[in-house]
Amino acid sequence: MSFTYDERIDGALPAVDREAFIAQLTSLSPTMEVLHEREDLRPYECDGLSAYRTVPLCVVLPQTVDEVAAVLRLAASRGVPVVARGAGTGLSGGALPLEKGILLVMAKFNRILEIDADAGTARVQPGVRNLAISLAAAPHGLYYAPDPSSQIACSIGGNVAENAGGVHCLKYGLTVHNILRVEIVTIDGERLTLGAESLDSPGFDLLALFTGSEGLLGVVVEVTVKLLPKPQSTKMLMASFDDVEAAGNAVGQIIGAGIIPGGLEMMDSLAIRAAEDFIHAGYPVDAAAILLCELDGAAGDVDEDMESVSTLLSHAGATRILIARDETERLRLWAGRKNAFPAVGRISPDYYCIDGTIPRRELPRVLNGITAFSAEHGLRVANVFHAGDGNLHPLILFDANRPGELERTEALAARILELCVAVGGSITGEHGVGREKINQMCVQFSNDEIEFFHAVKAAFDPARLLNPGKNIPTLHRCAEFGGMHVHHGKLPFPELERF
Ligand SMILES: Cc1cc2nc3c(=O)[nH]c(=O)nc-3n(C[C@H](O)[C@H](O)[C@H](O)COP(=O)(O)OP(=O)(O)OC[C@H]3O[C@@H](n4cnc5c(N)ncnc54)[C@H](O)[C@@H]3O)c2cc1C
Repeated sequence: MSFTYDERIDGALPAVDREAFIAQLTSLSPTMEVLHEREDLRPYECDGLSAYRTVPLCVVLPQTVDEVAAVLRLAASRGVPVVARGAGTGLSGGALPLEKGILLVMAKFNRILEIDADAGTARVQPGVRNLAISLAAAPHGLYYAPDPSSQIACSIGGNVAENAGGVHCLKYGLTVHNILRVEIVTIDGERLTLGAESLDSPGFDLLALFTGSEGLLGVVVEVTVKLLPKPQSTKMLMASFDDVEAAGNAVGQIIGAGIIPGGLEMMDSLAIRAAEDFIHAGYPVDAAAILLCELDGAAGDVDEDMESVSTLLSHAGATRILIARDETERLRLWAGRKNAFPAVGRISPDYYCIDGTIPRRELPRVLNGITAFSAEHGLRVANVFHAGDGNLHPLILFDANRPGELERTEALAARILELCVAVGGSITGEHGVGREKINQMCVQFSNDEIEFFHAVKAAFDPARLLNPGKNIPTLHRCAEFGGMHVHHGKLPFPELERF
């Protein structure tokens, strides 16, 4: 089966005397939990990409920065790799453990240390849940803008490591645009501060470099995030279409008209029906696609823009436009979208979520391509995605128990990602590369570029002990994977003419 862990990475690591090493770890601190019995390790064998599973050597749950530093120092001295984990909701296998490595679980770092309402910032530990920050800031009329659909569970440390996005990132930016400062511990146990409380900080922008580095450069132990004032007015509409291409075109037209919605999401018919069956959000089950468009800001501006967007959508072919009458209806419409992944999980034994980004103008062409590929591979695909950002999330429905279906799914996913690269897009928008898309990195980047990534990694972690085998492929792997080359950001892709 092709979804097993790459033995070339784990197999190449030196084996330590397990019992002695665990005894050493346990002796580092009386308050630090070290799990090593097989039944205690099982719950940690995968993240949200459950097709990949590996039981780690041990799981360590530190509670203080000193404990994190001590674990990393010991690991470095013994050549034992370390994989950091937040809440384990990642969808690219980033927190997949190593058989010969420590899984460093940051769940006990779950305190909000300070909310400075005047400065509009919050200082939090990395295990704090994304949604918990906005809940804590709400009494001050503030909130934290990036809102992954997993925000009820995912941790801010994981968000930093993945540069997470969400429904409202079109207007307010990704994690990287909403954090000011992180404290990290390096593999040598050194504590570093990246960024500053102010908007600019001297020196290279290491905070931006670190954000999205998937646990390869250091372990986040504290984050300072920006908080925004809650908008004066928020309104939302749902537009139904009987043609996916028309809905895709409408997305570009809204933004082309100079209106930046707080959120602009699209769902196709399979996703609409699954979400409606599950959440009863009031979605039109006979529509080919819906657009969910939220506008926020000063009340007068929102009303004016709402009218412009409604007119524009009607001209673009919307068959029905529903404006949420009140907060309850607005939240219900969002609930359908935010629960779309689990909703799809109810209609298929397994689903595989892809995360590719494309220029918005290419939406209709790429959606047509996905439909064609889906038919050719004999697998259903539900589309639910951040349309305004051009960030696609095709969900491939499959049954892992059927022989060959997982491999067909993998092949279809690769083809879709390569189509994204071919139109000038990228193999990830927000879920990261992790273990999952490591081969597609060879499609996206040239060997020279990949060597630069290795050099950056080596500057932080010369012995490559932090999350090895994720995110950056070896050149050997790329050579084995095949010699596809990207020209000026675009991949030669003869099939493009078809769509
Ligand atoms: C239903 C569902 C919906 C989702 N929707 C979205 C969405 O809308 N937008 C989006 O961006 N993502 C989404 N995701 C993916 C996932 O929630 C995000 O990637 C999230 O940022 C992962 O956070 P986590 O705490 O679960 O991290 P984990 O899965 O535990 O880890 C993710 C990566 O971060 C590293 N890491 C974790 N903590 C630390 C730390 N303290 N220091 C250094 N490295 C660390 C890990 O090594 C790993 O590489 C969704 C997932 C699910 C299951």
